[in-house]
Amino acid sequence: MSETQNRPTNFIRQIIDADLASGKYSQIHTRFPPEPNGYLHIGHAKSICLNFGIAEDYNGLCNLRFDDTNPEKEDIDYVNSIQEDVKWLGFQWAGDVHYSSDYFDQLYGYAVELIEKGLAYVCFLNAEQTREYRGTLKQPGKNSPYRDTSVAENLALFEKMRKGEFKEGECALRAKIDMASSFMCMRDPVIYRIKFAHHHQTGDKWCIYPMYDFTHCISDAIEGITHSLCTLEFQDNRRLYDWVIENISIEHTPHQYEFSRLNLEYTVMSKRKLHTLVEEKIVSGWDDPRMPTIAAFRRRGFTPASLREFAKRIGVTKMDNTVEMSVLEACIREDLNDNAPRAMAVLAPIKLVIENYPENKVEELTLKNHPSDESQGTRIVPFSRELYIEKEDFKEEANKKYKRLVLGKAVRLRGAYVVTATRCDKDEQGNITTVYCTYDEKTLGKNPEDGTKPKGVIHWVSAEHALNAEVRIYDRLFSVPNPAAAEDFHTVLNPDSLVVIEQAKVEPSLANAEAEKAFQFERQGYFCLDNKISAQEKAAGKLVFNRTVGLRDTWAKMNK
Ligand code: ATP
Ligand code: MG
Repeated sequence: MSETQNRPTNFIRQIIDADLASGKYSQIHTRFPPEPNGYLHIGHAKSICLNFGIAEDYNGLCNLRFDDTNPEKEDIDYVNSIQEDVKWLGFQWAGDVHYSSDYFDQLYGYAVELIEKGLAYVCFLNAEQTREYRGTLKQPGKNSPYRDTSVAENLALFEKMRKGEFKEGECALRAKIDMASSFMCMRDPVIYRIKFAHHHQTGDKWCIYPMYDFTHCISDAIEGITHSLCTLEFQDNRRLYDWVIENISIEHTPHQYEFSRLNLEYTVMSKRKLHTLVEEKIVSGWDDPRMPTIAAFRRRGFTPASLREFAKRIGVTKMDNTVEMSVLEACIREDLNDNAPRAMAVLAPIKLVIENYPENKVEELTLKNHPSDESQGTRIVPFSRELYIEKEDFKEEANKKYKRLVLGKAVRLRGAYVVTATRCDKDEQGNITTVYCTYDEKTLGKNPEDGTKPKGVIHWVSAEHALNAEVRIYDRLFSVPNPAAAEDFHTVLNPDSLVVIEQAKVEPSLANAEAEKAFQFERQGYFCLDNKISAQEKAAGKLVFNRTVGLRDTWAKMNK
């Protein structure tokens, strides 16, 4: 994938082109501003690729700023995982990591400035009264009885708030804007509230915290952000941001542009719902490979390049839409088809005994790691008299469409010989347990001399040399395309989203597999070693593979 060659274009890049052409800006400065209240998901990846991608392409800068105004919901674990995810995606922020909390002193000063200008007041209406006074979309609100408190008194009250002399919820600082505005966010929004909460960055220094809307725009201005890019739900809030910046003494004015959120079929993206999935142990954690988080995609074997390519393909618009899962899967499949080394793994093994092959002989066959990319080199795969093959790859009888092993018929073993099945053993229930065959020793890398050409190729592993592995087959977590629309998402969970195969047999070279680096298991799909195997398990030789994605988009067809 050559990402830099054809740069995406979109309405935001057109605005930037125009701003550069007109001389409005000489350097572009963007930022990615997550709230550290959960892991990043694929929707965030869209925003990261947009913000960092623009900075890269325009030789500009992109900040990483934690919008950390909500200490009760935030956690240092999230701060760390977010940084790791951004780096893993292949981006580096300008300078140090920023925190809105770095600006708490300045924000406090700007709040005081608004009070001094008669543009903010301390309000003692309780939550219920505040709601009642706010009015509705159809009805204007009413002015708070505290709206005309004098500047001097407001300054004293705000100071008391800061000193912890009021209880949580007893009062709040509100901007004095317009209780009749058609934009609800302009009806005297709260800009500071009391919270006796410990903050992961500022400790116990503050018991009042600025609200997100007040903080966000000022943080952008302080950092000199030229283009503040955010999702459409903040469209109305832009009025409030512009009002705040206009009314405080700050030089720089950032401009906000909104784009539509990414929605992905069969997935929920709201952090609240993702939290529920984790808390209720419906998944094993934020990085459970069925989650839409960046950490989960990584654990599942997705590459950073595949997620960046996905962001490029879905583009950036103002239109609400839901992207089909097949778009994402195509990105990773194309990447891994080109780049993943091949290996052989038998997921549902039965024995194949080659009766005319010498008992103790072992041949070390040299197999290509990739069918067309020579640079990936070769590996040694041992071949012997007893192999494992896939249960599904043998039938006593079958029609011509079945191009695998059938009694009396020949098939090629991948990278090895042509064999012909002669008979089979069954258990008491009639399940086939062992297949017997003969091999033609002249067929290593050649067609049989009699001119017949076996129709099929099947994969195998040598029974004596095979390693045991657990293989986890993942499917969509939800059984409907739009789980967010369900009244209760528990009712639309896919019961088969994880199938664990405990007794798979894999070729010995996979003992050296690296976590997160996907292989193509021949004829099966793409799989990578799980990154959560403990050191103890590793020492004991435990192998766990996660399925990244199947070879083809069979799922869409099956469900039509
Ligand atoms: P919450 O669910 O708590 O509202 P959020 O999803 O808005 O959180 P933030 O941490 O506030 O998460 O998001 C950081 C940035 O990522 C914001 O600029 C936001 O607009 C963007 N973002 C969040 N979700 C998506 C999405 N689905 N598609 C594109 N961008 C997104
Ligand atoms: Mg948010």
